[in-house]
Amino acid sequence: MGIKRKLLVKIMDKIAIPRITKVIELENSTSQMPDMILPMENSPDRFNIPLEMIKLVRSNPKMPFRSLPPMRILPSLLGNMKKVVNSLPENPSNPQIEATPEFLEELVEFAHSAGVDVVGFAKLQREEIFKEKGILHDNAIVLAMEMDWDKMEQAPSKPTMNMIMETYNDLGIAANKIAEFLRKRGFSAMAGHPLGGMSLYTPLAMSAGIGWVGRNGLLITPEFGHRVRLAAVYTGISNLPLAINNNHSWISDYCSTCGICIRKCPTEAIREESIIQDSGRVTYTYLDKCFPYFVENYGCSICIKVCPFNRQPYSKIKERHDNG
Ligand code: SF4
Ligand code: SF4
Repeated sequence: MGIKRKLLVKIMDKIAIPRITKVIELENSTSQMPDMILPMENSPDRFNIPLEMIKLVRSNPKMPFRSLPPMRILPSLLGNMKKVVNSLPENPSNPQIEATPEFLEELVEFAHSAGVDVVGFAKLQREEIFKEKGILHDNAIVLAMEMDWDKMEQAPSKPTMNMIMETYNDLGIAANKIAEFLRKRGFSAMAGHPLGGMSLYTPLAMSAGIGWVGRNGLLITPEFGHRVRLAAVYTGISNLPLAINNNHSWISDYCSTCGICIRKCPTEAIREESIIQDSGRVTYTYLDKCFPYFVENYGCSICIKVCPFNRQPYSKIKERHDNG
């Protein structure tokens, strides 16, 4: 092993892995806190992407350290993941539970001013909560932030990976800001960080009506295609304007005739047919085929880049689809 690799392994062992592990333990402590909504027996385990990436690179001499997320961003990411849990005692002791329409408008405006591009509202299902996590409320404000197209077009590349991590970071900051905003206005809130988080975000975003899942398992939004990162803020506000319909279900039909992401995936990691697990959760990819390539190639993202919804306006694709 070269000196540089030895040094990097040491840094991972002494700094990165213990720090990430501590944050995961802190997140898991939410399941022991009072009044938390807990996962179901058949809820999914969370796959801890940064930790698993580091472990794979660390243990496999063929894997280059250069393809890992930029370490400079790690302190901010971890700091905001910790804030999700550590800020919970700041919730008001007698929170309000009804918001006026004016306040809800103000909330959406505030979210936009914090850098969030799309806001939706949904009821969280217990099956969507990750094992070992607890969530304070099942009223969810769903947040989507755009990922830069110029950088995404270069995928897989270091600039793409850096941009993705920066988007995670910006959205994590925004989610905490929104939780803080709610607390200051007398409402109880818990932020959900985009990196991992406490629950599955794609089904939550679909319930909020802000998009539909594609064959690669990722959300397609009318505004940005797949180029979004998702997060949530869970709140005690009981009268959120929940979405009644999702107008994007036609995308399933479109996807069935498209399949570009399946053909372009370099490791054949996207299933021809999605699978419904016992929990009701739908699985779209083979993790064991995707993950090593993902780690070795700056988070890959080819299946995001090639999707037509990134390249053509949603309305045009829908019009062509509707006209057969
Ligand atoms: S990230 Fe890359 S390897 Fe993984 S499913 Fe998408 S295209 Fe395939
Ligand atoms: S590339 Fe095609 S099949 Fe894959 S998610 Fe996009 S529209 Fe659906």
